[in-house]
Amino acid sequence: MKAIVIGGGIGGMSSAIALEKSGIDVEVFEAVKEMKPVGAAISIWPNGVKCLNALGMKTALRELGGNMAYMAYHDGTTGAPLTRFSMAPLVQQVGEYPCPVARAELQAMLIDTFGRERVQFGKRVIQVEQTGSGVIATFSDNTQATGDFLIAADGTHSVIREYVLEQKLERRYAGYVNWNGLVTIDEKIAPADQWTTFVGDGKRVSLMPVSGNRFYFFFDVPLPKGLPQDRSTVKADLTGYFQGWAEPVQQLIAAINPDTTNRVEIHDIEPFSRFVKGRVALLGDAAHSTTPDIGQGGCAAMEDAVVLASTLASHSLGIEDALLRYQARRVERVKDLVLKARKRCDVTHARDPAITAEWYDSLKSETGERVLAGMCETIEGGPLG
Ligand code: FAD
Repeated sequence: MKAIVIGGGIGGMSSAIALEKSGIDVEVFEAVKEMKPVGAAISIWPNGVKCLNALGMKTALRELGGNMAYMAYHDGTTGAPLTRFSMAPLVQQVGEYPCPVARAELQAMLIDTFGRERVQFGKRVIQVEQTGSGVIATFSDNTQATGDFLIAADGTHSVIREYVLEQKLERRYAGYVNWNGLVTIDEKIAPADQWTTFVGDGKRVSLMPVSGNRFYFFFDVPLPKGLPQDRSTVKADLTGYFQGWAEPVQQLIAAINPDTTNRVEIHDIEPFSRFVKGRVALLGDAAHSTTPDIGQGGCAAMEDAVVLASTLASHSLGIEDALLRYQARRVERVKDLVLKARKRCDVTHARDPAITAEWYDSLKSETGERVLAGMCETIEGGPLG
């Protein structure tokens, strides 16, 4: 049996590794000539970590992960702590550590695990067709690939999604802009072993440790869509948006490198329930695009990969049947993640300022119990428990 995987991102590479592990031949086609992931880093929560562990990357992943032993919120303007608690109860409950990693390093680990020389770069799919017994993908260079089935992991702007759904879906702007990057750890800004977040006015500034003595940082600001983007004004823009904020935030703005700081207008897609058309299946952001507010988009793609491979390996009624079972096992789970993230997004970014003010207030009495319980529920809803 041979699979064609379209897209060499987190979803595509995880599924290529998973399918190959279950004895299926795999060819991977990636549009770009060189991978440049959007975003500097990513938090892989234990549900995602368990999937990568199961795919044989436990040791390699551990080396990339930062030590996120504590979590803390601070008032953005005064800098005063609102709450701080240990992540140990979460680790204890779910049996695995969260793993914040630099994206380029995660991407390299996935590609190297599959075999870099086997990923076919510079191959942009423009058309997909099905014959009675297989699939044909046509690329923009007029070449074609054939296989028994096709996994469309071509991301949030997926062209294959339109083929599967027979309609084009618009992405929904979530109402805020996110700047992110990596910076050397400076304990004057935040403790090295803590996920630290400053909040106020529907904005946030967050720092998460990754390996190599670096913080993954991000700034969120509610803004209209379509404002001009200009690297040369990144520091001035952030200084303006965070005027009057606490000293660590000012120090962070001073420390960032605008040339490696990404600016992303955050979107998601209304959840839908068709991921499969015959022998073609959507996976990752192509199937479920979410805001990053609970850090689960990439983790969900890893879950998809594990479920896809195990469903194909454990059923005997044919490929089309197995793909429909994959769809049945994933639709509700990912819908839940997208809607949870959207809800969190709205509270964090002051869609209703009164609700956000209540949340800020509730943080003052947060012991960690409520926050960690919510995270554990999300994590334990994954395919590996
Ligand atoms: P992508 O990573 O987008 O990969 C798709 C690949 O397909 C790309 O390499 C692209 O070049 C290729 N491609 C596209 N079109 C074609 C074509 N026609 N032919 C061939 N190849 C094609 N998730 C988490 O789990 N934790 C986090 O902390 C987190 N933080 C985030 C922060 C931000 C700011 C953002 C924007 C997202 C975050 N996410 C996070 C979500 C995560 O990045 C995505 O869910 C994940 O990258 C999806 O992987 P994917 O492989 O489905 O898509």
